[in-house]
Amino acid sequence: MTTTPNWLDKRAYLTPHQEAIVLPDDTTYTFLDLQNDAKRLAKHFSNQGFQKGDHIALLSDNCYEFAVAVHALSYIGAVGCLLNTRLTKSELAFQLEDANVQGLIFQSKYENTALKLKEELEVLTVPLQIPHVEWLESDSELKLDNVSHILYTSGTTGNPKGVQLTYGNHYWNATASVLNLGLHSNDRWLLSLPMFHVGGLSILFKSVIYGMPVHLHERFDVDTIHHDIMNKGVTVMSVVALMVEELMKRLGDGQYPDTFRCFLLGGGPASQSLLEHCRDKNVPVFQSYGMTETASQFCTLDEDSMLSKIGSSGKALFPGQLKIVEEGQECSANEIGEIYVKGPTITPGYWNRTDANEDTFDHDWLKTGDLGYLDEDGYLFVVDRRKDLIISGGENVYPAQIESVLKGMNGIQDVGVVGVDDDKWGQVPAAFVVLNDAVSKGDIQAFAEANLAKYKVPKAYYFVDELPRNASKKIQRHKLLELLREENDA
Ligand code: ATP
Ligand code: MG
Repeated sequence: MTTTPNWLDKRAYLTPHQEAIVLPDDTTYTFLDLQNDAKRLAKHFSNQGFQKGDHIALLSDNCYEFAVAVHALSYIGAVGCLLNTRLTKSELAFQLEDANVQGLIFQSKYENTALKLKEELEVLTVPLQIPHVEWLESDSELKLDNVSHILYTSGTTGNPKGVQLTYGNHYWNATASVLNLGLHSNDRWLLSLPMFHVGGLSILFKSVIYGMPVHLHERFDVDTIHHDIMNKGVTVMSVVALMVEELMKRLGDGQYPDTFRCFLLGGGPASQSLLEHCRDKNVPVFQSYGMTETASQFCTLDEDSMLSKIGSSGKALFPGQLKIVEEGQECSANEIGEIYVKGPTITPGYWNRTDANEDTFDHDWLKTGDLGYLDEDGYLFVVDRRKDLIISGGENVYPAQIESVLKGMNGIQDVGVVGVDDDKWGQVPAAFVVLNDAVSKGDIQAFAEANLAKYKVPKAYYFVDELPRNASKKIQRHKLLELLREENDA
């Protein structure tokens, strides 16, 4: 088993005075500060009885102390179970029980929730505060095969599953990303994705492994983030599509400074119109594809192909492998099938889910449950989740394509598409639409007919104020189906 020094120790040894974390109010912590704080917090955790191998949950929004706690847990060798703060108490209780946690660290604003969970589950609760105690002295080595985290999937398709990630998974992910993007001496990465999901957490590991400052935001606040990009030399920002939409509106006729290198776009699809808008504004967007199970991005579009392969998620990063499989056979170019991935960033398996492990792994290949194809040059195009595929009159209809097209219509702010049962066609698409201007069903129908094959044109439209989205801002299509059922029952 490969062993390395604890990454924060190594980093604080190499570049102690380099900025590690910068907050929006310009409070700055160097790697030495971060190491000091993490070792003190580790000592405090250890005084509370947390031990090597324990599963310790953390309930916190993004903040400096969150980053400190992630490193502190690695110093004591505990497995961090990072909880989504937007979950209800019963959803949290499910994850705490499922992950068999011994302790729960909570940010002060979640004290009530933590205390209620403590009554129910008898976990040891510890407030997230860096105490004034001495350091933890430890040998501080990391074994790359050891599980560092159990991270729950976003729960877009149903109940989240606990994904075990190892130090090695994180290490290879950080390496794969830098081999694609390169590391510039002035790089500064803006982090506003939730750190309890892998997209946010992976940036913390990139920071210590690369020796790169992270501009840490509690949440996505468009004005503060715009200000950081314009004035603080941010070079890269990890985003989901909705964030790019808002930032582009905020940018208006302006331009980002030359220091800004790119948005790294993940988590889900982006509409063609958004990508084209960014291209017209000279804002580089690198679409990526990945999942909790792959320790964040697995494929990313490279800079040179950004325009010629618009809409693609690129190629599997070094040294990951990817293939498209349908009915046990590898597909040829442009043929749609299930995306299979393999490599050192792939989870060793779900925690406590024998059924899901059996369904998901085919030897060392992970079956993603996503459908896609590789074009003739080997670039990946993700089409949708297999679960959400609509089969209408024998034709495959991908809701994401319809959403992408309809989002290109003026007056439409957001769209979610699901399949509903139909006597004649088996299933037909239905669209939930959020408007930002007066548009009629007839207008949308005409637009859809002009831009989509007939069998893809939604057969019903529902106007709603907003779409159900999870903390990763993904549309929860199963909740749209629940809405429909409620409407039909009423
Ligand atoms: P759950 O597994 O609980 O339903 P989830 O799959 O949304 O939730 P994540 O691990 O956060 O949880 O997300 C990974 C998924 O996001 C992928 O499996 C894929 O469906 C979607 N996704 C990621 N990147 C892209 C992309 N470039 N285009 C389309 N979909 C994407
Ligand atoms: Mg998933």
